[in-house]
Amino acid sequence: MAAADDDPPGSAGAGAGDLAGTRGGPAAASIVPAQTRPAAGNVLEVRDLTVVFPGRRGRGPARAVDGVNLAVDHGEIVALIGESGCGKSTLARSLAGLISPTGGEVRYEDKPLRYSAAALREYRRHVQLVLQDPAGALNPRQNVFDAVAEGPRLHGLRRDLAARVDSALSRSGLRPPGQFVARYPHELSGGQQQRVVIAGALALGPSVLVADEPVSSLDASVRGEILKLILDLRDQLGLSALIVSHDLGVAWNIADRVAVMYLGRIVEVGTVADVLLRPEHPYTRALISVLPDSRRDRPPAALPGEPPDPTAIPPGCRFHPRCPRLAALAPGDPRARLCRESDVPVLPPRGGSRLVACHLAEDADPMREER
Ligand code: SF4
Repeated sequence: MAAADDDPPGSAGAGAGDLAGTRGGPAAASIVPAQTRPAAGNVLEVRDLTVVFPGRRGRGPARAVDGVNLAVDHGEIVALIGESGCGKSTLARSLAGLISPTGGEVRYEDKPLRYSAAALREYRRHVQLVLQDPAGALNPRQNVFDAVAEGPRLHGLRRDLAARVDSALSRSGLRPPGQFVARYPHELSGGQQQRVVIAGALALGPSVLVADEPVSSLDASVRGEILKLILDLRDQLGLSALIVSHDLGVAWNIADRVAVMYLGRIVEVGTVADVLLRPEHPYTRALISVLPDSRRDRPPAALPGEPPDPTAIPPGCRFHPRCPRLAALAPGDPRARLCRESDVPVLPPRGGSRLVACHLAEDADPMREER
């Protein structure tokens, strides 16, 4: 499970709070996922997904997502982490059906997503997107009831609408719902606004939440509450979630598995403990090494080189211009040529407890390199 006894480097500074032992809580009545699901297997998957945006201002096309395989199981929470510009938000929007991929496919319940208006409308009942900024997501002229009822109304779910809204608000921790339904967004705290956004998603009875930086705009004091809410929803409703975050503390506190993205590709994926406590890819190690850690006697090491640019993907391994493992090879080491000239195969969606996209992953001695 996500929160364990070990502390990853930097977890105290993540602002997500300690969620160990905080799962559970009162259940509301009438919202259930939109369909009966099998107990195991993928609920959501991308296969060889590519999203290319046209070039602007004389630059070439931007390969924001460049061949990604990733699967989310029923009841599983997967955190997708990486620097700004790595493609994680584009991937999240593709999973939410907001972007049509250039290549590859999104699959829900083992069926490919179609992009007709009717198919997308049905898909969005099951896969709901929660955005970073709840103030921007809510209409300032709409009260809480109308905000939560908007989705069900659009989908023609008008029967027992008040009960549906009450249930969604209760599930989201806004209890008693009667105290909130007539309020407007400016009368709510940031945490309450995000709960309303989540209630709006829940009102459709989805199977999956795709949440793009769901707590990054919130005060540190309420981030843990929203993460705990997502965990509770998984435990009570069996919801799955893909959580996009640049904050490794969020991943530590909430995820079962972590996928690390760099320049449009997944470079490492595995259990939260494997990836955050025993990272194998040099990029994952670099992300973790820049976190503050009072137990480490050396200052954090900045990742060298330019930030990733999806309009100029380097040849060979796309991380090679910044890679500390490559830089540490002895002059003349023939493996350096492999790194500079040979692309690393795209990781499959599954395969063992951990997958690492690095030519030298099996050569690496975890004890030799500092995190
Ligand atoms: Fe670094 Fe080479 Fe591995 Fe790429 S393949 S991450 S350049 S060691």
